[in-house]
Amino acid sequence: MALTEVVIAGGGFAGLACAKALATAGIPVVLLERKKAAGVGMHTTGIIVGECAGEFSVPEHLTRKVTDVKLFAPNLKAVELHAKDYFFLTTDTPGLMRHLSDEATRAGAVVLYDTAYESGVQSGERINVNNGSFSCKFLIGADGPRSKVADHFELGQNTKFLLGAEAEYEGLELGDNNAFYCFLDQKLAFGYLGWVIPSVGVTQVGIAQRMPRRPDIDAFVARMKPLFDFSNAKVVARRGGLIPVGGLVRPFARDNVILLGDSAGIVSPLTAGGIHTALHYGKTLGETIAHYLHNGGQHPSLLLEKIYPRFYLKQGLRVVYERCAPDWLLSAALTNPIFKTAASTVFFKKKKLK
Ligand SMILES: Cc1cc2nc3c(=O)[nH]c(=O)nc-3n(C[C@H](O)[C@H](O)[C@H](O)COP(=O)(O)OP(=O)(O)OC[C@H]3O[C@@H](n4cnc5c(N)ncnc54)[C@H](O)[C@@H]3O)c2cc1C
Repeated sequence: MALTEVVIAGGGFAGLACAKALATAGIPVVLLERKKAAGVGMHTTGIIVGECAGEFSVPEHLTRKVTDVKLFAPNLKAVELHAKDYFFLTTDTPGLMRHLSDEATRAGAVVLYDTAYESGVQSGERINVNNGSFSCKFLIGADGPRSKVADHFELGQNTKFLLGAEAEYEGLELGDNNAFYCFLDQKLAFGYLGWVIPSVGVTQVGIAQRMPRRPDIDAFVARMKPLFDFSNAKVVARRGGLIPVGGLVRPFARDNVILLGDSAGIVSPLTAGGIHTALHYGKTLGETIAHYLHNGGQHPSLLLEKIYPRFYLKQGLRVVYERCAPDWLLSAALTNPIFKTAASTVFFKKKKLK
């Protein structure tokens, strides 16, 4: 049995940020990731919002800056949205994951690939993981939207999801290579939208729908064909997966077992962005556990209770969007100044994380 202070289940954005922060503070930490290596089998589009890029330095060669949004109504009429000094970064997401993994390892974390978290049992003050392979004081569930850690320790679980599907193209010509093309369409993308966005060496084309509906990426691409030149376009990769949009799960912690990232449901129910919150709260939780183990004081889960986002307003807006925004209304409203202002707020309002 390997003794350590912290075991993290899941080596995505949240788990790696937490592992790096713990190791940087001198806390022994083992991260278990079921994937064979960093950066394989990505599910996310990987767009980083400007405020995240300000908080976490990402190597420039792994990113591409996009400053404008072209928002299309279901009738394919469009408005252009822009905010001074705001930008998104599209990323070479597999490269970014390798970078985050290298950073955590360099800081001193033990990052084990091809090693799934399988079981966890409280044993006195400690937690036995994977039938006694590891014993730790804290277990962090950063194992994504359907968390085994949450299941094993009877923590809250995500119940509302979008399902996203995406194709990465080489050779796809866009009219404007500085634009994030977004398509409102409640038939193809109920409760969310479709997107076309230039990234690092590829163009990402994707769509997500509120489950139980499933995204039909082929139908979306067919709808995009009159707008973009697909004649030399070739699909080089596919991604997809679940996005929890029901807000913070309850309870998100029990004793020293704590959920983080998508496992905790800390994804914006409106924009479906979860990378910034995963990185930010991953780092914060790592630093807080380190402080607690070194100095005692406030338990990390009590701090998270104060700072984890609740997303009440965004959940309400999601309900309105799903129930009260049929395609004809979206098409009619698109050029309305109030609608444009609301859309700009969703895309560009800087989100402050506690
Ligand atoms: C199609 C799609 C597009 C998206 N686009 C964006 C976007 O552009 N911008 C944005 O901000 N957000 C986006 N999101 C959301 C974002 O990807 C997530 O919020 C973010 O990845 C959360 O990070 P995480 O580390 O919590 O979870 P994840 O990234 O899901 O990482 C969890 C990790 O745990 C591992 N794991 C699972 N079970 C086990 C186990 N039993 N043992 C060991 N390891 C395990 C998984 O392999 C995975 O590596 C998108 C999501 C999807 C599905």
